[in-house]
Amino acid sequence: MTDDIKIKDKEYVLGTYGRYDLHIVRGKGAVCEDERGKKYIDLGSGIGVNSLGYCDPGWVKAVEKQLESLQHTSNLYYTAPDALLAEELCTRTGYEKVFFCNSGAEANEAAIKTARKYSFDKYGRGRDKIITLNKSFHGRTMATLTATAQEAMHNYFFPFNEGFVYCEKDMEEIKGKEGVCAVMLEFIQGEGGVIPQDGEFVRQVALHCAQNDILFIADEVQTGVGRTGKFLCSEHYGVKPDITTLAKGLGGGLPIGAMLVGDKCKDTMGAGTHGSTFGGNPVVCAGARYVLSRMDGEFLSEVERKGALVKKLLSGAEGVKSVNGLGLMLGIELDGKSATDVVKECIAQGVIPLTAKDRVRLLPPLIITDGELEKAIGVLKKVIAE
Ligand SMILES: *Cc1c(COP(=O)(O)O)cnc(C)c1O
Repeated sequence: MTDDIKIKDKEYVLGTYGRYDLHIVRGKGAVCEDERGKKYIDLGSGIGVNSLGYCDPGWVKAVEKQLESLQHTSNLYYTAPDALLAEELCTRTGYEKVFFCNSGAEANEAAIKTARKYSFDKYGRGRDKIITLNKSFHGRTMATLTATAQEAMHNYFFPFNEGFVYCEKDMEEIKGKEGVCAVMLEFIQGEGGVIPQDGEFVRQVALHCAQNDILFIADEVQTGVGRTGKFLCSEHYGVKPDITTLAKGLGGGLPIGAMLVGDKCKDTMGAGTHGSTFGGNPVVCAGARYVLSRMDGEFLSEVERKGALVKKLLSGAEGVKSVNGLGLMLGIELDGKSATDVVKECIAQGVIPLTAKDRVRLLPPLIITDGELEKAIGVLKKVIAE
């Protein structure tokens, strides 16, 4: 290893990440550059974060403009960007109120607390369990790690939190659980391999929740904000969860999480029940407002069209068993090859995909061009077939 940065990283940064051999220095649109000036087409957007690609000029301008007037105050005072962003999110989605924080896990923590308090306020103690689905992913904090229903991840950090129960995608099993205050699910399990839920199952969950005053929480941290070709993935399923969480793509590259709550929970969390020092940061919210301003109907239908283009380009490709997902959130099931090996070889050839379990996962920036997609998928196909 000759790159000084890689050496320093290995020496000083806590070793929680197995990094690929790639040092990214700058980017523009869907293309980034390493320290030697080699260019890469990015099919991962920093795990679905850079929704407008690298350094979109309008986004940079919005962020810079806010930086020049106010970078932070605190939630003790009023500021415009978070109030306006909350209004815009509610107007777009039909939700009533928003809580801002800094990450997906933190948004899910807020949802867990809201669900527990909603139930406590109405029914008292003991009705506190949250159902999550096997293969889900909800974050890395203690509560959201416990919510993540993957046995392999429930190790080392004992004791795990109480009050989470795991179910298969099976209505009878879900209906059989007692003391439940909420069901939390991803419409497409992202980290779990890009596995979309069955539409009828989701509608049954929504119905069961509504009939029993159980809160339906949608973790749209990965699927939200245009990723699947609708602003929220719930629109594909025709359901309106009581709570939706967002993060990744919302900030366009700056850390933000949001919990959207509907009518049922709009007054559940009063002053002092929850908070976040950085939550609703003006600079981050200014960036997120710009992201939203770009996501009109045409932008979203382009996401859908590009997703269909990727599926078409991959259909019948050698070594590809199936392609799952919606819009620009796609998972490729391979016929025998290791997804990690495919990603490593793609990076060597100037294309950056992701993995999810044993699949290759694609979350390209939503602004990627057809030409970039054709070129990148061409490389990916060649690597998979080799
Ligand atoms: C990434 C992700 C999270 C965790 O988000 P962080 O910002 O890493 O805390 C939670 N849920 C889903 C569905 C995710 O994809």
